[in-house]
Amino acid sequence: MPYEEDRKYWYDGQGLWDHIPEQDWKNWTWQLRNRITTIEQLESYMELTPDEREGCLFANKKLALAITPYFFNLIDRNDPHCPIRKQVIPRVCEMTTNAEEMLDPVGEDSHSPVPGIVHRYPDRVLFLVTDRCAAYCRYCTRSRLVSNAQDYNFHPEYEAGLKYIEEHPEVRDVLLSGGDPLLLSDSKLDYLLGRLREIEHVEFIRIGSRIPVFMPQRITESLCDVFKKHGPLWMSIHVNHPRECTQELKDACERLSFSGVPLGNQSVLLKGVNDDVEVMKALIHRLLRMRVRPYYLYQCDLITGSSHLRANVCKGIEIMKQLRGHTTGYAVPQFVIDAPGGGGKVPMNPQYITKLDEEAIHFKNFEGNLYRYPLKTYPVDEDCRCNKEEILL
Ligand SMILES: *Cc1c(COP(=O)(O)O)cnc(C)c1O
Repeated sequence: MPYEEDRKYWYDGQGLWDHIPEQDWKNWTWQLRNRITTIEQLESYMELTPDEREGCLFANKKLALAITPYFFNLIDRNDPHCPIRKQVIPRVCEMTTNAEEMLDPVGEDSHSPVPGIVHRYPDRVLFLVTDRCAAYCRYCTRSRLVSNAQDYNFHPEYEAGLKYIEEHPEVRDVLLSGGDPLLLSDSKLDYLLGRLREIEHVEFIRIGSRIPVFMPQRITESLCDVFKKHGPLWMSIHVNHPRECTQELKDACERLSFSGVPLGNQSVLLKGVNDDVEVMKALIHRLLRMRVRPYYLYQCDLITGSSHLRANVCKGIEIMKQLRGHTTGYAVPQFVIDAPGGGGKVPMNPQYITKLDEEAIHFKNFEGNLYRYPLKTYPVDEDCRCNKEEILL
């Protein structure tokens, strides 16, 4: 069992920042102000590999370097293969773009009617409200605009976005993302959520944020009050490895849950980070214990300079096969590919159906045993005849 430690939550206190008053450590603005953003700072805390060193020197041309002290403490500084390290410390391969990779891998710009709005699905929109994050994931699908290292000059315009949503009654679901929406002040969030709530056709509001993971200190009482005021509100967080499930994150998730915010998790399948069934199981089990429902597991988008982090899709399907049925259904995320070029999220499932004929559907269970379920209903209902091609192809 590689994850025996799973029974305990990882807690390292203030680690390298033990000399800092606790009230500073627990203050999210302190965490933001004291982020590691330069190679000099990074090297004062740890020894970089030559690969990482070179990666850091280039980082400001692609996606800025930023790591909160809290998240930095989760890195095993003696292990060059540390799964936390790989997510936030640049490596030189980031500067290599292969033929399949794109700046806008899921075609967001071509589905953007006004700056900051991505309208790809019929009834819901993505609303990008900032281009900044608390820390930068090296495989970020929006690295073209996030952190503005590539001079993309994305300036979110709330009013244009709000106007678009107001004028489109088919939009019943708004997903706030960015950058990270929780970098906005409480009062800005209060304003934005208030404006969205005033729109009668908007039924469902959710926030996508990695801030609970990078900086759980941001989940303050006053932020929770804003969420209570504008609820129901859902949130998707982004945890990739069980080590990120700290006591602090658990406490932050509890504050959110107790404020009426249901939590989901979106992970990205990353080579050498979580492309292993035991790691994935430890992660999803920990998430459930933090009241977080695993929602999506993403195949890594074909973002420029990500090939060193992208796991094989087949590996992902294999992992899904080893989860479904083998553990709690609530723990099992949906594995998806966000279709290159802009087709939206498509489920990638192991194949359970083995045959479909006039009489029955034949299928395997999680143990590989074969079963059959009859198709005929009595009395025969002609409308119920299914189209085999629709189902299997
Ligand atoms: C992911 C995404 C959504 C939300 O998709 P769900 O499957 O409903 O979670 C909406 N719009 C865009 C552009 C997205 O990428």
